[in-house]
Amino acid sequence: MTEADDRDDTPSARLAAIGARIARAERIAHRPAGAVTLVAVSKTFPTEDVEALIGCGQRVFGENRVQEAKAKFPALREAHPDLELHLIGPLQSNKAREAVALFDVIHTVDREKIAAALAEEIAKSGRRPRLLVQVNTGEEPQKAGVPPREAVAFVARCRDGFALPVVGLMCIPPADEPPGPHFALLQKLAGEAGLPLLSMGMSSDFETAVEFGATHVRVGSALFGARPYPA
Ligand SMILES: *Cc1c(COP(=O)(O)O)cnc(C)c1O
Repeated sequence: MTEADDRDDTPSARLAAIGARIARAERIAHRPAGAVTLVAVSKTFPTEDVEALIGCGQRVFGENRVQEAKAKFPALREAHPDLELHLIGPLQSNKAREAVALFDVIHTVDREKIAAALAEEIAKSGRRPRLLVQVNTGEEPQKAGVPPREAVAFVARCRDGFALPVVGLMCIPPADEPPGPHFALLQKLAGEAGLPLLSMGMSSDFETAVEFGATHVRVGSALFGARPYPA
């Protein structure tokens, strides 16, 4: 590394660079400045790394495991009450209570059992996190999410059957395919379901996601560096 590279590789430089790339993608797509929210994915990274980004002004964070978020975020929230925490990983129904207590947005509702468990905990706790339905756009057997052809009906069941505050859709395209067609499919399904939020795009493809209407991009390694262990 040169000295210049070293100087640029700080949390504030990385955050500014990602912010500039999002802003540029918004302009190219003729979308309003600020249309896209950056969710900083802090899974596997220690609290000090999160603190560093908070110090640079970042307030929206994503974690993929309830237990890890529970270990890191209550203290951070106490110090910074304006943090917004998103669950972007799979949710088990026996963790629904903790998830409703901890998260402001849950991106991964994908089956009736989870919808029922969330409805129960929302009713009990009075906390009402915003919810997104995860769609398995590539219909990959190992991946979570509702099949695309069932997505609109599932959203309707969540809203009408369980009175859940569903506001958007989320997807993780197959690793070995161009993401554009998957983002386009998610955008189309959200339109059909009448949902305003689209959570799509990660470190390697968030600019493409912005082009297809993402309102939330989930960026981890491009902000925090390579993960110390697989998530
Ligand atoms: C880890 C993760 C991300 C961030 O991935 P990067 O490639 O590190 O940006 C985004 N979304 C989900 C669901 C994840 O699990």
